[in-house]
Amino acid sequence: MRTSKGGTDMYCPRCKKIKTCKAISAAQVTMDTSDYAQRKYYTEHADIHFFQRGRLCLSCGHRFVSGEVDLEFLQELIELRDALKEIKSNAEMYTKQSAAAADSLSKLNNSLGVLKALKLYRKTGKRENLD
Ligand SMILES: [Zn+2]
Repeated sequence: MRTSKGGTDMYCPRCKKIKTCKAISAAQVTMDTSDYAQRKYYTEHADIHFFQRGRLCLSCGHRFVSGEVDLEFLQELIELRDALKEIKSNAEMYTKQSAAAADSLSKLNNSLGVLKALKLYRKTGKRENLD
């Protein structure tokens, strides 16, 4: 909502609070002269169109670019974040469990080595002093 304070009350990513932010050119934030256009889309995601604005937080001076998108894309982003979080958690669990499995396999391999040594001992019938 536009206010008489010289900007719009919106979330400032640096303040992490709702603050009054002045609209500025996105090019003033990105320092890219091609950012003067406000209607944009990603060439590799042509279905995602957005309207961008540069923003200047009047409380902390932070400059950032905001974008208006179809809310369905935000919902998709949240779902993808949740899915990625679950994949990351499962990958971490897999890494821990595979390390434990590798340790167990190593111990099993050592035990089999002992068994093989016993079998050889029996085949040869020799008794040697190991000291
Ligand atoms: Zn701020």
